[in-house]
Amino acid sequence: MRDYGRAGHGCVGGVSGLRHEAALIESRTGGLLGIREATGIRGMAMGMRRYSAFAIAREAARYHTGWERAWRSPQPKAEYDAIIVGAGGHGLATAYYLAKNHGITNVAVVEKGWLGGGNTGRNTTIIRSNYLQPSSMAVFEKSRSLYEDLSQQLNYNIMFSPRGVLMLAQTEHEKRAWERTWHANRIAGIESELVTPERIKEIVPIIETGGPRYPVLGGLWQPRGGTARHDAVAWGYARAASAMGVDIIQQCEVTGVDRDADGVTGIQTTKGAIRTKKLCIVVAGNSGVLADMAGFRLPVESVALQALVSEPIKPCMDCVVMANTVHGYMSQSDKGEMVIGGGADGFNNYTQRGSFQHIEETVRALIETFPMISRLKMLRQWGGIVDMTGDRSPIIGTTPVPGVFINCGWGTGGFKAIPGSGWATAEMVADGAPRALAAPFSLDRFTEGRMIDESVAAAVAH
Ligand SMILES: Cc1cc2nc3c(=O)[nH]c(=O)nc-3n(C[C@H](O)[C@H](O)[C@H](O)COP(=O)(O)OP(=O)(O)OC[C@H]3O[C@@H](n4cnc5c(N)ncnc54)[C@H](O)[C@@H]3O)c2cc1C
Repeated sequence: MRDYGRAGHGCVGGVSGLRHEAALIESRTGGLLGIREATGIRGMAMGMRRYSAFAIAREAARYHTGWERAWRSPQPKAEYDAIIVGAGGHGLATAYYLAKNHGITNVAVVEKGWLGGGNTGRNTTIIRSNYLQPSSMAVFEKSRSLYEDLSQQLNYNIMFSPRGVLMLAQTEHEKRAWERTWHANRIAGIESELVTPERIKEIVPIIETGGPRYPVLGGLWQPRGGTARHDAVAWGYARAASAMGVDIIQQCEVTGVDRDADGVTGIQTTKGAIRTKKLCIVVAGNSGVLADMAGFRLPVESVALQALVSEPIKPCMDCVVMANTVHGYMSQSDKGEMVIGGGADGFNNYTQRGSFQHIEETVRALIETFPMISRLKMLRQWGGIVDMTGDRSPIIGTTPVPGVFINCGWGTGGFKAIPGSGWATAEMVADGAPRALAAPFSLDRFTEGRMIDESVAAAVAH
């Protein structure tokens, strides 16, 4: 089967040239917000011009001949203060906050493909923070709140849409689980609400609450959860980081990690060796592979997770609905396509594609809850390799190799965490040790038994 994760709903583009061109078009056509003062992007001095309504008007008057590339494409230098492996959202956000919050700009982000071409460009873009455990709520709420004005911060329209996320309760057990989560959210000061089937019908008129197998018994509603344009998040962070001096090196695969008795000394890549004393591995489904190169093991498994989109239809649903019991979730993109998320494969693999079995299961399940989608044609499906930990929480921490840091294990739910994770990882790389936001997610929690159990919040996992 073809990998359909290549177009539409802003899913990953075909080749890096196209992606780059797309980023240029995006910047030409007005994904552009914010004011220079608000961005604080020092790198504007490096020749990156601020996007604004005035800039669009100016370029329109001169046939759009004056736009510069959205980010630089430099050759690698011999040495950097820090190297980040993986130009997904988490790696790019880490680079951005290293430069912006800590003034560390001699940084390279090394990417084997094209930036944003991993899970960051393949997900269903759900953003919420109503998790169960205090440390998870802290990092996801930090992230959600950063999303609120990220367009202005980055001077790039990431199309954050706080349209509300509704998690359905379709069994008594699930209803109790959401009640427990709701109490935890209230204690943590996170806005979330328990809703009745009647209220759910008001929020989502197309839903069938009295379904034969799994009637809707209630739900957990986060009104300021929502979605954002996933490619734009990667492009916005890339452009802003590049503007501050960060080198983003695409088509450059890391093939080895160099170390001596004191720790990391550099990396081997398809573009040659690069020296560094600080290496941060942020490669999602490939984390085990990179850890192996560095000489340590990770408690993660890599599996394909998939999604699909329908043909575009008129607006019919203005929030995100997650149906964990029947295992499916759905939102409507600005283009009108119904964006549908399915399950993860039941076996470890690196295939980056989905399977018919999951399409069938997911669509069958959702049709019970949304009978109207039975008439829709599905246009594309795709997959990404997600990195799952046993407690379904991420790992942000130091590693047994001095100078090597790891950020992984976001599994099926890390898009929403990109800003907060980047913020916390930048703190760790700058200081050499995690601060409060990241500290609970250390690698040694698996040997010390300090699990952060989010398996309920992350069962379908977004
Ligand atoms: C189908 C699907 C739906 C999802 N839905 C949601 C959702 O609704 N909400 C949500 O919050 N999350 C969701 N997720 C999860 C989310 O997409 C991920 O958690 C998140 O994007 C991970 O970002 P990342 O930057 O860590 O990884 P990625 O975006 O995968 O980036 C890692 C990068 O590392 C690069 N790399 C790997 N190996 C090397 C190497 N040797 N050298 C150099 N570079 C390398 C890869 O090419 C890749 O670009 C979904 C995931 C999938 C697959």
